[in-house]
Amino acid sequence: MQISCPKSASNNIRKNGHRRGKQNYQCKDCGRQFIEFYSYNGYPKEFKEECLTMYVNGNGFRAIERIKKVNHNTVIRWVRETGNQLPHSPEHYQIPQVGQLDELQTFVGKKAVRPRSGFPS
Ligand SMILES: [Zn+2]
Repeated sequence: MQISCPKSASNNIRKNGHRRGKQNYQCKDCGRQFIEFYSYNGYPKEFKEECLTMYVNGNGFRAIERIKKVNHNTVIRWVRETGNQLPHSPEHYQIPQVGQLDELQTFVGKKAVRPRSGFPS
């Protein structure tokens, strides 16, 4: 099963015991703890499609989060995963680029992370 961090979308996840009878996970990248509910497979297919439809119709990620009670990072991940599969995705509804969302910026930034200066080897 593919588990992603709801905050950083990282797949670098480790199991972290159980909470209220559900598997608890912790992200090794950002330390965020979350339960299985937040995982990709935790949402019904219909729910995911409703959120994607809202996105295609021009709703922002924050609006979808507010209305559907789903983390906007989860919606962003769905959009990224779905990509061209969206049937009527207008060209001007692009997936947000770096700088549009702080969390996404953090996520993208990690892809090109460089060693920090200030630590002489
Ligand atoms: Zn994370």
